[in-house]
Amino acid sequence: MTDKNQLVRPDLRALEGYHSPQLDVEVRLNTNEAPTPPPDAFGDELAQAITSIEWHRYPDRQATDLRQSIADMHGVDPSQVMVANGSNEVLQTICLTFGGAGRTVATFEPTYAMHGQIARTVQCDVVEGERNDRFELEAGELSRVISESRPAITFLCSPNNPTGTPESLENIELALNEAPGVVVVDEAYGQFAAFTALDLLAKSGGAGSDLPLLVTRTFSKTWSMAGARLGYVIGPAWMITEMENVLLPYHLDTAKQLAGTIALKYRTEMNARVAAIMEERGRISHALSDLGFQVWPSQANFLLFRTTPTGRGGDDVWQALVERSVLVRNCSSWPRLDGCLRVTVGSPDDNDRFLDALADLMEARS
Ligand code: PMP
Repeated sequence: MTDKNQLVRPDLRALEGYHSPQLDVEVRLNTNEAPTPPPDAFGDELAQAITSIEWHRYPDRQATDLRQSIADMHGVDPSQVMVANGSNEVLQTICLTFGGAGRTVATFEPTYAMHGQIARTVQCDVVEGERNDRFELEAGELSRVISESRPAITFLCSPNNPTGTPESLENIELALNEAPGVVVVDEAYGQFAAFTALDLLAKSGGAGSDLPLLVTRTFSKTWSMAGARLGYVIGPAWMITEMENVLLPYHLDTAKQLAGTIALKYRTEMNARVAAIMEERGRISHALSDLGFQVWPSQANFLLFRTTPTGRGGDDVWQALVERSVLVRNCSSWPRLDGCLRVTVGSPDDNDRFLDALADLMEARS
């Protein structure tokens, strides 16, 4: 009899997937999605466009129109853009191209767990640096990790998931100066932040830049398109060419390319939504502080807070919220995040439901 466990690559056996349990609740604030679908006109335009797809033909391998639209939005050259099925696939392509067996990847914890997870699946050694108790990355720690481990890929995340804290320009410059390899700034939540590493790329010469800097973005948050699975990376043209060699042929289907291109026409609407989410983020943050919770300053579409004032542990509060039909992300068993929960900024009504449920818990305590 085959021992099934022996079939799996030995270094993968200990890995666990990255999942957020989806429960049947009324208020879902656990996966940092946008609270509302794209505008109706987007759906109408896409439905019309889909009728003209030549389904018997492979998609445009270069995703020409979508790349052009993304490039126009960011004021870069299309040769600086690579699009894939969600920014997770972009991150995987980066690890396959610039990482691999015998190479080291640096992360700064707590951060987006998929950086380390994807790196391990392509057999990189992962070295974890630490953030301070404000969840900021100190320059000394960044330098230490880089000089000790000489990473082929240094992952920074701005704003950082799950803490919401932005990265500083100084740290990104320091990483670029000191690291021997590629520096990735994951800006999945970039539109909600005051700062973007894209400015650095532009200053360094755009398409012809020698700077080994890659900035990743997604359609899953601002663009209300988590269901489409679209993400992209912007970098110097030579890095994009290297990554394209690793992508599977025709990895991006025709319907998805159309969906992305059409979505980008609704920029004004999307910007208005980002502004509304940022306003709600401020309101929730104040309300959490008023209830006595420690909450970290966030530049993303979510907030991290600690459940201590309830007198109950993170698991317990998470469960109590579920019982009130409110689902948030339970981070309390993650290293360094004891008692922490992460809440996505939702619609004003959903946010009220969340805050009322917490107020309820606080009242039950007194
Ligand atoms: N990066 C970060 C920091 C994220 O939080 C997420 C989504 N949770 C992703 C990348 C992946 O996004 P997607 O694959 O949906 O584009």
